Amino acid sequence: MNDNLHQLRCFGCGARISGAEARPDFRCSSCGDLFEVEYAGWNQRQGHDRPNPGALKWLWRERRCSTEPLDQSGVWRFRELLPILDNFGNAVTLREGNTPLYPLLRSAKALGIDQLFAKHQGMNPTGSFKDTGMTAALSVAKERGFEWVACASTGNTSAAMSAYAARAGLRCLVLIPEGKIAWGKLSQAMDYGAITCQLKTDFDGCVKLLTKIVRESPIYLLNSVNPYRLEGQKTPAFEIAEAFDWNVPDHLIVPGGNLANSAALGKGFRELHELGLVARLPKISVIQAQGANPLARAFAANDGQSIEPVEAHTRATAIRIGNPASWRKAARVIHETGGWCLDVSEAEIAIAKAELGAEGLGCEPASAVTLAGLKKLRAQGKVAGSETVVLILTGHTLKDADYTIDFHRGTLLSEKESAGHEIAIEALRRNAVAVDATPEAVLAAMQVDAR
Ligand SMILES: *Cc1c(COP(=O)(O)O)cnc(C)c1O
Repeated sequence: MNDNLHQLRCFGCGARISGAEARPDFRCSSCGDLFEVEYAGWNQRQGHDRPNPGALKWLWRERRCSTEPLDQSGVWRFRELLPILDNFGNAVTLREGNTPLYPLLRSAKALGIDQLFAKHQGMNPTGSFKDTGMTAALSVAKERGFEWVACASTGNTSAAMSAYAARAGLRCLVLIPEGKIAWGKLSQAMDYGAITCQLKTDFDGCVKLLTKIVRESPIYLLNSVNPYRLEGQKTPAFEIAEAFDWNVPDHLIVPGGNLANSAALGKGFRELHELGLVARLPKISVIQAQGANPLARAFAANDGQSIEPVEAHTRATAIRIGNPASWRKAARVIHETGGWCLDVSEAEIAIAKAELGAEGLGCEPASAVTLAGLKKLRAQGKVAGSETVVLILTGHTLKDADYTIDFHRGTLLSEKESAGHEIAIEALRRNAVAVDATPEAVLAAMQVDAR
């Protein structure tokens, strides 16, 4: 069976190559830009071969009741829209995707928005949206006969890669910036048997080094410059469209680090639109941390036409990236959908995370930028109360328990960082208190907290 229908198109110069021709660093040999997977067949095929929207919608829903592993995956149940393998039998799946879409009733009320939801990608097998991309790209590595895979990572990519490599029986190499990744994520790479190297450099330095290594050795690169990652990461767009019965929400808000995820979700909606499965695109807005905000700066300075790398600083380690690889793809998505790119402060991130937690939806600090960003967009009049808004929560709260504990103990933010936010922070803090082991003392502790 040959399920493979794709080619790679350079995002910069438009050059087209076959998947097998890609260089180990996934950069275009003429212009150095990144590739996108393209399915030229879709528009040219006629009659029975052309995807039928009604039939696809029925088939994808039907697969949720199947006992086949591939059908149970929220990525591969949409495999008609990601024909990247010669044989789908090579797919490596941990039943990723099919993540919950939760209404955010309290935040909606506080913001005066009728319809506010969180798509919780932290509910994936290794606790972040990276699983949806990894099942796709690692399956390609396996099909092409690689024995080693590698990534540079702020943490979640390495956790996802290590798990899928272990399932596939591949060896894997992880390069991480020393002291700058959350323990939960590092522990996952160890648990799944990766070779982990902590380097005395930042994420951007790890990427540079790994690029040199893969050019010299037969190691398959699984950073998000790998275009197959984005094919998996576009599928939450399909799930969201399906959840709204194929009427897309008005606005999607996504955290931005290396900027592949926003690019992928935009591609997902674009393809649904091209195939006639949805009637319009949602606005897609990207939110960065103020200390790692090259794209937000670019939009403020020149409408996102060119980017200046920054030295990245933020406690939201998953988005601590100063020189994002996929910025052009993300900028295109923001432009074509009519979204925005903003940044938010460390205090705004911490408050938003605690507010989501107080709604029962724990997430990583990097995920909470979405709610912080929505507050800003709402205050600037860019989101109407009548709009349907979906926040993409990218990672699970247990990935970085230190962050949460530091916030509630009051040691997360400096005085300068919390300036002007003291009341909001105090209202949300729930530090553990030491009390005597008597009923009276415990009952008294319950009274103190009438917030
Ligand atoms: C990777 C990651 C991000 C950033 O995604 P990009 O594709 O790099 O923009 C945000 N949040 C979490 C939890 C992540 O793991």
